[in-house]
Amino acid sequence: MTALIDARTLPTGTVLQTDLAIIGGGPAGIALALSLAGSKLNVVLLESGGMNFDPAIQKMYSGAETGVRYAPLDAGRLRQLGGGTNHWGGWCRPMDAIDFEARDWVPHSGWPISRKTLEPYFPRAQALVEAGPWIYDQKGDADNAAEGSVLPLSGGGLYTSWFQFSKMRGDILPTQFGNRYQDDLKRAPNIKPLLHANVTAIRLGANTKQVEQLDAATLTGKHFTVKPRFVVLACGGIENVRLLLASNDVMKNGIGNQNDLVGRFFADNPIPRDVATVVNFAGPLAPFYGANQNLPDGTIMRATFAPTAQFCRSARVGGSLSTIEQPAELDETGKTAVITTALALGVEASNAKAYSLGCGIELMPDPERRVTLSGEKDALGLPRLKLNMRIADEDFTRFNRTMTELGRQLLASKAGMLRINCHTREDWMTRMDWGHHHLGTTRMSADPKQGVVDADLLVHGMGNLYIAGSGTFPSYSASNPTLNLVALTLRLGDHLKKVMA
Ligand SMILES: Cc1cc2nc3c(=O)[nH]c(=O)nc-3n(C[C@H](O)[C@H](O)[C@H](O)COP(=O)(O)OP(=O)(O)OC[C@H]3O[C@@H](n4cnc5c(N)ncnc54)[C@H](O)[C@@H]3O)c2cc1C
Repeated sequence: MTALIDARTLPTGTVLQTDLAIIGGGPAGIALALSLAGSKLNVVLLESGGMNFDPAIQKMYSGAETGVRYAPLDAGRLRQLGGGTNHWGGWCRPMDAIDFEARDWVPHSGWPISRKTLEPYFPRAQALVEAGPWIYDQKGDADNAAEGSVLPLSGGGLYTSWFQFSKMRGDILPTQFGNRYQDDLKRAPNIKPLLHANVTAIRLGANTKQVEQLDAATLTGKHFTVKPRFVVLACGGIENVRLLLASNDVMKNGIGNQNDLVGRFFADNPIPRDVATVVNFAGPLAPFYGANQNLPDGTIMRATFAPTAQFCRSARVGGSLSTIEQPAELDETGKTAVITTALALGVEASNAKAYSLGCGIELMPDPERRVTLSGEKDALGLPRLKLNMRIADEDFTRFNRTMTELGRQLLASKAGMLRINCHTREDWMTRMDWGHHHLGTTRMSADPKQGVVDADLLVHGMGNLYIAGSGTFPSYSASNPTLNLVALTLRLGDHLKKVMA
């Protein structure tokens, strides 16, 4: 077994020649490196952080935020081996087929690949995130629900869907990619993982089409270079923008930014809390609604309400996943509403229980929701970032159409009822939380005028620079991104094996 190399021990001026340089050791960078383990390619994995959190390294992530209140740029990301998986929640769900489609009610939507293209990579991605056997919505609800039964919804726009959860081992959940896969990285003779190695510039040749060199530095003042045949940028959806825009000595607007797209269309999944109150006339809901459920084989699941593709089309709504949060107390008006509604429906509701419902929403793509360089610099002289965060009223009103439909289905099945709690922008914003899913900034499109990378994740106009991660998602889905970005990255690994052979 080789070791993880501490770049601070390299002599200044070191030049590393390699087939492939992967910049960033989060789940995307690690998944890619592991997919190439044992291949004929020599791979250098450059990771800014070490094995543990270090405030000085983390500070390089800080930046400025304007617009709608959002997490500080150094809070929703982690700069250490394993990246965001050192603090992720482990919620996993594959994206739906409709998420990849061009939807005429979702501006700028449509991937150049379909879900079918990604499907062969889901099993390996599922194994890497350690979310157990692929169950999700494949089996019947009864198989997924070990204890209790699902809420009967009448036919209509929403159905019960299922999350699975990443689980590293025993009680440790979820999988932290750095800790979990460090030995696999060490074991691979063709992979050289460097820690404390910050890439500070991507240097192009005079023809502007090839990366010739990466400049790298440590916080202790060491400088070295990597000369790769191919490069994959895997620093996360926000940080990839910074390296592309700041590497502007040859292309003055930054690499891949000839159409002013790098950093635009940033998105996250808003996860406002308590957006609705759900009442179950029959009493307490089954435990898998409000908490994670352990199946006998160790798989962890949780139920959620998802809109069908047909409903998304007819009601012109985006994706959303609405999940029971916790029991709620009804006020006097609410209690009266339950009694009168149950009477009108002719059902027994003396044990009725109320719950708050939270959700994860797919935002509509917006080119002005955007990451740019600011005038500030970090400890290594790299310009810091500025995020302009926006969310449109229409994003909220679309989601309320989905909630109205869920309420209709509950009444139609005589199972319960639903009250919408958010009517004004202020209602939404006071309940707002974010998924920290960094999407869209280097969007994928077959058309170079509409995207930064092509269907193979190659930067348009470049011959040897690729991008991995959820920044390449051109539209977003409500499903959590990591399982999906790992699948997309494994596909990139197969592509690189072919083009680099
Ligand atoms: C609190 C929280 C909860 C989350 N929960 C979930 C969840 O439940 N489900 C889900 O699917 N997703 C979740 N996420 C999102 C998830 O963490 C990300 O989708 C995932 O980490 C992105 O992977 P990545 O490899 O593209 O980027 P990152 O994980 O951000 O990794 C990028 C890596 O690049 C390194 N790096 C950065 N700059 C440089 C540089 N210049 N040179 C060298 N290396 C560099 C960083 O140190 C880091 O290790 C959550 C995120 C947060 C913050």
